[in-house]
Amino acid sequence: MKKDGLNGKIFKIGDLIVLAVFIIAAALAIYFMTKPTGSEVYIYKDGKLLEAVLLSVEKTVKIDEHITVKISGGAAYVLKSDCKGQDCVKAGKISKVGEMIVCLPNKVVIKIVGDGEVDYITG
Ligand SMILES: [Zn+2]
Repeated sequence: MKKDGLNGKIFKIGDLIVLAVFIIAAALAIYFMTKPTGSEVYIYKDGKLLEAVLLSVEKTVKIDEHITVKISGGAAYVLKSDCKGQDCVKAGKISKVGEMIVCLPNKVVIKIVGDGEVDYITG
C-alpha cells in the first residue's frame, strides 16, 4: 500500500469538508443578512416621536401620569390610561406592522413599524 495515495485521498475528503463548511457559513451569513431585524414600536406624544422600542424587549413605558404602554411578548398595548372611553386600553395588543393604537384624549399614538422589507411585504 502506498502511503502517498492514502494521504492524497484523505486530503481530498478534507477539502470537501472545508468546502462544505464554507458553503454553510456563506449560506448562514446570507440568511442573517436578509432576515428582517424585527419590528419596533413607535410611541408618539403630541405628534412627536417620544420613544422607539424594539418589540423583542420587555418594557413598560410610562408616557406621562395619564397613560402607560407595555411592550411584552412581541406585542404592544396600553397597560393603563385615565382617558374616559378607555378605547386605547380596549384596543388590546398590537404586533403587526401598520397596526396602531390611538388615545385621542392623551394625544398618544402607538404604532408598529418594521424595516423596509417588512413594509414592502405588508404593503
Ligand atoms: Zn385612551
